[in-house]
Amino acid sequence: MQNLTDPRVIHALLAKNGAALKKALGQNFLIDPSVCPAMAEEAGIGANTCALEIGPGVGVLTVELAKRAKKVLAFEVDRALLPVLDETLAEFSNVTVRNEDVLKADLAAVLKTEAAGLDVVVCANLPYYITSPVLMKLLESRLPIRTITVMVQKEAAERLCAAVGTRESGAVTVAVAYYARAERLFGVGRNSFLPPPKVDSEVIRLTVREKPPVDVSDEARFFRVVRAAFGQRRKTAENSLSAGLGLPKETVGAALDACGLARSVRAEKLTLADFAALSEALN
Ligand code: SAM
Repeated sequence: MQNLTDPRVIHALLAKNGAALKKALGQNFLIDPSVCPAMAEEAGIGANTCALEIGPGVGVLTVELAKRAKKVLAFEVDRALLPVLDETLAEFSNVTVRNEDVLKADLAAVLKTEAAGLDVVVCANLPYYITSPVLMKLLESRLPIRTITVMVQKEAAERLCAAVGTRESGAVTVAVAYYARAERLFGVGRNSFLPPPKVDSEVIRLTVREKPPVDVSDEARFFRVVRAAFGQRRKTAENSLSAGLGLPKETVGAALDACGLARSVRAEKLTLADFAALSEALN
């Protein structure tokens, strides 16, 4: 088997198949041999698991997933990488590569046919330009996914895994906490990639909750309130909510009063329970 963490091997594979590294698709390939086995180990793969990978690249993580999982389902948007993957994954009969944009794919339908009867985990070195939309799609679609173990930018890891109600939190923190338990696993320096990106990275794991930790009668409204509250970070939640939801300040103020919250509170101080109560009060 070729050493897919050797830059010379990667360049040769791409050249042979008429492919080139595409910055616009977030193609920073892992070249640190310790990272992919560690990610695959942390993904919680068992004998009956389908591992869903987003962006297999030349297959360096895919191989580690294929060794451990019953099945690997990988979405790669770059058609030029398909012949490369055919070659690097030739010895595995349990891998399916789909040439599809993960953001456009009907994941529920694909998993229904490709992963019937299997536990599903996601494991990926995500293309960073779509980190939040991919994670939100995976979480919001209520897919039968148990864990999501992914490489993200260090700054994204800090935001995604922050405790709700702290300065590091944002709308995406609240969304992640609503659907999952988030953990930061280990850091990965920029020189572990070909080419090295301008930022360091971190592997995080989201363990999807069976049930959200707060009761919300209308999730769409709950998330509108969360996004509006964080819409203008430096302003009070009263001002941001009023502007973001198009409501009179007095209406928002009365809702904050009803929830026992100060009118001067900022979004970053609010807990999940506060957001849930506010979204009910603003109904
Ligand atoms: N897994 C490989 C590794 O670790 O070396 C490659 C990771 S690279 C950071 C991201 C990969 O995602 C690239 O192969 C890129 O072509 C692919 N990609 C980018 N946008 C995508 C999308 N919307 N849907 C599916 N794959 C995408």
